[in-house]
Amino acid sequence: MATQIITDGSTDRVREAPRVVLPANPRLFEERAARFAQLAAGHPMGAYLRLMAQVASGQQAVLGSREAAPLQQAALEQSRSYGMPPLAAQGHARAPLWRDDLRDILGAVRADAAPGVRPALDRLAAMDDASLEAVADRVLTGTTLDDDAAVVPFVGAALQVYFTRQAASLAVDDVSHCDVATVCPVCGTRPVASVIRIGGAQASLRYLVCALCQTEWNMARVQCSSCETDKGVHYLSLAENPDSDQAGQAAVKAEACDECKTYLKLMNQEKDPFVDPCADDLATLALDLLVDEQGLARSGPNLLFHPGSG
Ligand SMILES: [Zn+2]
Ligand SMILES: [Zn+2]
Repeated sequence: MATQIITDGSTDRVREAPRVVLPANPRLFEERAARFAQLAAGHPMGAYLRLMAQVASGQQAVLGSREAAPLQQAALEQSRSYGMPPLAAQGHARAPLWRDDLRDILGAVRADAAPGVRPALDRLAAMDDASLEAVADRVLTGTTLDDDAAVVPFVGAALQVYFTRQAASLAVDDVSHCDVATVCPVCGTRPVASVIRIGGAQASLRYLVCALCQTEWNMARVQCSSCETDKGVHYLSLAENPDSDQAGQAAVKAEACDECKTYLKLMNQEKDPFVDPCADDLATLALDLLVDEQGLARSGPNLLFHPGSG
């Protein structure tokens, strides 16, 4: 189950593709920051995307600054026995470490923060641990309040760093037990988007990318990532204006499903090698508006964004 045998039609080129790819890239958030900065140029939401570039830079600085908390052996055992995600976002006892990550990200962003951002930073700095944990719970359960909107990107960013670091400390054998195709095999969170990858063993394959811990898992192309049907799946994109070459637009489509009336974005690295599931998602909120108008609901979150704030 952990490995998929793939052939491109020639007998000598059978290759094995990983079913699950843990977030081992030590420069993941640095690359995301660069993508946010690239997408911000000339974008109507440029100021917001530049702030997200600062947040991602802060995430990068913090990611390698601490060791992962020790893995909970009971959770690994439960995963082996019952196929539960070993770091289930909603059941996992978060180490207080994530709040240190949050404080460091706030410090990194504050250094260059625009005046409009400071109230959110001040508010978070003044919150006690119980209030921070309550916001974190709402971020992880998709129940953020309109009042949380300004602080969600920072809390979401810190939780991403914490869970990414924890996920990277797992072994592939630890994550081969949960095979529910529609949620992350590590933390049980829904994907932020899916990406058709280029290069290496993942080339030309579609991977769903966890909104929280950045783990990727394989799913067939042209299959609904929410109900797994391959019927009634169709694609919507922003009308492409050949004169306005806004970065990323041609590489991002919404994969919509008539069966379960949901959608998730699909990004194609073959069209733009620099697409990032989190950054390109936030740079194409106009596509969400277009698809929402058709009565389709988004099936996975972006933890840097409170959905009511669009
Ligand atoms: Zn995950
Ligand atoms: Zn569906």
